[in-house]
Amino acid sequence: MMKGNVTKTAKSKKAKKKEEKKVRDDFLQSIKNQLREMCGGICSNPECRVYTFGPTMEKRNGHSSIGVAAHITAAAPGPGARRYNADMTADERSAAANGIWLCQSCSKLIDTDETRFPIELLKQWKFTAEKRAMELIGKTSIGPDELQRKLVEAVASATQLAYTGVGDFGKAPLPGFVHGYENYLSQLDPRFVVKTTAKGDHLSHEISVKPGESAKIKIRFKDEDVAREANQKWRYFLETGEGIELNATDFEFVGSALFEMINQKKNDGVLVLEPQKTAVPSTLYLKSLIHDTEFELASFDSYLHTAGDKLFIVGDCLSGLLSQKCTYNVKTLNLKIDYNFNPQKWIGSKFSNVEHLPKLLKAVNFLKRDVQSRMVVEFNLSGNILPFGESADHDLFPLYDFFAHIVQLVDRARAIATAIDSELRISSLDVSGHDERLINIYSEILRNNLVENQPFGKEILTANVSKIAEETVKAMNDGGLDSYLKINERCGDDFNLLGNLVTPPIFQSVLRGFEAAFFTDLDSPSGTELGIKVYAIEGTTITHSIEGKEFKLLNG
Ligand SMILES: [Zn+2]
Repeated sequence: MMKGNVTKTAKSKKAKKKEEKKVRDDFLQSIKNQLREMCGGICSNPECRVYTFGPTMEKRNGHSSIGVAAHITAAAPGPGARRYNADMTADERSAAANGIWLCQSCSKLIDTDETRFPIELLKQWKFTAEKRAMELIGKTSIGPDELQRKLVEAVASATQLAYTGVGDFGKAPLPGFVHGYENYLSQLDPRFVVKTTAKGDHLSHEISVKPGESAKIKIRFKDEDVAREANQKWRYFLETGEGIELNATDFEFVGSALFEMINQKKNDGVLVLEPQKTAVPSTLYLKSLIHDTEFELASFDSYLHTAGDKLFIVGDCLSGLLSQKCTYNVKTLNLKIDYNFNPQKWIGSKFSNVEHLPKLLKAVNFLKRDVQSRMVVEFNLSGNILPFGESADHDLFPLYDFFAHIVQLVDRARAIATAIDSELRISSLDVSGHDERLINIYSEILRNNLVENQPFGKEILTANVSKIAEETVKAMNDGGLDSYLKINERCGDDFNLLGNLVTPPIFQSVLRGFEAAFFTDLDSPSGTELGIKVYAIEGTTITHSIEGKEFKLLNG
């Protein structure tokens, strides 16, 4: 009895399902096969294009499919049905014209959002997929992943070959492949040349304008704020000639097949707008007009480019320590040269190898002989040597001051650093007046004994006699000590040696030629002890020296 009941229920459910099935205007298997074949078994969503169909390992005569013959207008009405059209007949709904071949995920996707996937869009997908399948007949197949991987490999290999000469031209389908890819891209818009380079697993496309072509591309920004910001960047570009970056998600290109293709490819990429640059052989030197001498700082390549009304020639040399930027306004004929000294490039260097320091010291010495020297940059523009800056009225003193100051400071710090056992590096150029004074004194002492001349009448020291050695006091009392005094002291506290905290050693100061006066020291504990004041007389000198050179590193 119980059993009968259960069976009955099950049967009625099955029957109900059959009835529902009849209400749905499903495709016949023959229609499904037709839909699949029309698009070559590839998902019709242009952003997907996966293969939906292939053999299984299990059954040699079987196959595996993730493809679905999906309805463009729903097969049945009701909640969840999308794009249902009550005016259509059952035959129309189950006809091939109402079907589109998709992969399972895409078929789910289109059945969740009628607004995003309207009938017209799906029909367009279907048309494009069928056209594509037709064009692909007889062509080699390659998936997008495979293509991307092969492309990166090929570009990396071709790049390596081009830059290093390492590689095998025998395996040359790769460079040829890259060439073909670049050609294909260039053909999309013949005004441009496309170069590809591989960085890690990413491809970078460098697009430049062919000579003589006008390169107008429209950019449509996603909103006004973004557009305003981009406009500011563009004005900056025209003003300075320096490259700018735009976020790829902020805009779309319009009107060029090449750039529109980029619209589809970009995710979180960056568009870099750089002016096209031409190398200009350049020489930077100092020229003394008084002595008619020159000091060459470096020969290097600068780069010429134009932006708006301006022509720029920009370059740097000596590992970026010196840079120059010539700005020539084509309308006003105004020429401006900016020089920069960038000692930050030294940060991180070992004191034992500060790049270009000897050369820059020579330049400082050159400037010491004639501080009016001009800094000249000479360009070789297609064989014409054009010097700039010889007669310019730029005020170079602030630059020279800064340059001489830093170069000498680094050189002095280096002298101290080499007296310390550990290998030190420059980690900061930010030093206080106190640090700088100690760096100057100690480096001088290390190089040779430092002799300071003292001005007449200067009070050199005041001391309690009890702190002076007994024989010295005795010698003074005997009236003989008018020419020689030895003091051991530490000159100042720990100091910052360009980012390294250092404890200086005790050094000796020897006074030669002075006058001493005794007095009763009222500040002494007993109030009656004898004090001594030492004054400079004509020709007084103090010679500082260090016995052992034991600088101690505190943060090493
Ligand atoms: Zn798909």
